[in-house]
Amino acid sequence: MSSEKMEVHLAYCSGCDRQVRVVVNPEVEAEGREPTTADLICLEHGTACSGKLCPIFGVPSEEMEARYGDLLSQARKEGGE
Ligand code: SF4
Repeated sequence: MSSEKMEVHLAYCSGCDRQVRVVVNPEVEAEGREPTTADLICLEHGTACSGKLCPIFGVPSEEMEARYGDLLSQARKEGGE
C-alpha cells in the first residue's frame, strides 16, 4: 500500500459533527475489484468517535476499529516492519 496513491475522501459524520477522512481499503485495487461499503475505512476512528454505531457506515464501532487495524497492518507490511 502506498499512502501517496491512497485517495482520501471527506465525509460528514453526524456522530462527531465534523468532516472525517475516509479511504478505500487498498486491497480493493490490488485485487482488481469494485469497492463495496465494507471496504471503506474512516481514518478518524479512535480519535473522534465515541459512539457504538458509526452513523455513516452503519457498522458497530468495533467493526470500524478492525478495518482501521487492517489498514495499519498493511502499512506496516509495506514499510517492511
Ligand atoms: S468511524 Fe467514528 S468518526 Fe468515523 S464516521 Fe464513523 S462514527 Fe464518525
